[in-house]
Amino acid sequence: MSETKHNQPTRWQQELSRALTLPEDLLTALHLDHGQYNPGSTESNDQISSFPMRVPDSFVARMRPGDPDDPLLRQVFPSPEEFLDTEGYVDDPVGDTASVRGAGILQKYEGRALLMLTGACAVHCRYCFRRNFPYSQHAMKSRDIDKAVHLLNEDPSISEVILSGGDPLSLTDDRLGYLFTRLSAISHLRRVRIHTRHPIVLPGRVDSRLIDSLKQIRQSLIIVVHANHANEINAEVKDALSELADHSALLLNQSVLLKGVNDSVAALVDLCESLFDAGVLPYYIHQLDPVRGAAHFKVADSTAQRLIGEVSKKLPGYLVPRLVREQSGAPAKLWLTPSLHNSTLHNMTHVT
Ligand SMILES: *Cc1c(COP(=O)(O)O)cnc(C)c1O
Ligand code: SF4
Repeated sequence: MSETKHNQPTRWQQELSRALTLPEDLLTALHLDHGQYNPGSTESNDQISSFPMRVPDSFVARMRPGDPDDPLLRQVFPSPEEFLDTEGYVDDPVGDTASVRGAGILQKYEGRALLMLTGACAVHCRYCFRRNFPYSQHAMKSRDIDKAVHLLNEDPSISEVILSGGDPLSLTDDRLGYLFTRLSAISHLRRVRIHTRHPIVLPGRVDSRLIDSLKQIRQSLIIVVHANHANEINAEVKDALSELADHSALLLNQSVLLKGVNDSVAALVDLCESLFDAGVLPYYIHQLDPVRGAAHFKVADSTAQRLIGEVSKKLPGYLVPRLVREQSGAPAKLWLTPSLHNSTLHNMTHVT
């Protein structure tokens, strides 16, 4: 593939290169006590260096200074709890390794193929189910794009391609533009879906060059962003999202239900309302995948079902995300039914 080389890094690339990577620096920026950070043993340091902290300035700016329990800080700060081994929490909790079809293509579900374009992300979410995934062995190299496009072209059962990673918007606009042009030539492909956290954590990524690249896509475009808390959605993020919506992308959001971040009815309602204000519909709320190092984020299924039940009593149906869990080998994400248990009715049944 040919690619134009631009010598000057763009604004978002510069911003990304300034992202904080040292927990001590993040604590200083938020006026927090350094006693909060104690990686402990050498083994812990090894684990941290395989998934180091990474958080762009603009995300730090949305955290509350002086609050060690800030819901945005908790998502990105490498807490000592990560190094506790918990039974059942493993490196590949969702069976991704077994579903790799080659050339960076992952297929678990009918009609949809997921391309793992890159291992890079603008932020390192501590609860990420791919935090221990061997990206270097599976993420696509430039020549793989041609190979993947060839495989998709050969398989008319694929009607939707999902660009994932890592975060696909970590790629340069040149490479994205090339991929989009190639995908547009696949006649049986009806939808292109992009799973990205960039518009939330690095809204500067949505610039005119990205919009130009997106214009190469002939199919319907769906962009699924990832926000977990209303505080993530500020004016800059709203602007980025409306730019995307203006270019006829359907905007959806997926969240992960996270203890200490969004595990309350108030936080979830606020998130869903704020998403709608930004032109985004809540799509999924995922139960945490049991990935090693993330057990401290776990919310029990029964609590999750009760929370979403309460949310569904307060919001219109189109603002209630589907509560789902990923299960290795299952033909779709498993829906967990919201608990609509009504205490008044329940008491009456007991009386009669
Ligand atoms: C989640 C996921 C999808 C998309 O599932 P939808 O229910 O269509 O959103 C596709 N492929 C893989 C491998 C996934 O994990
Ligand atoms: S942006 Fe997504 S893929 Fe990247 S670390 Fe966060 S959850 Fe994982």
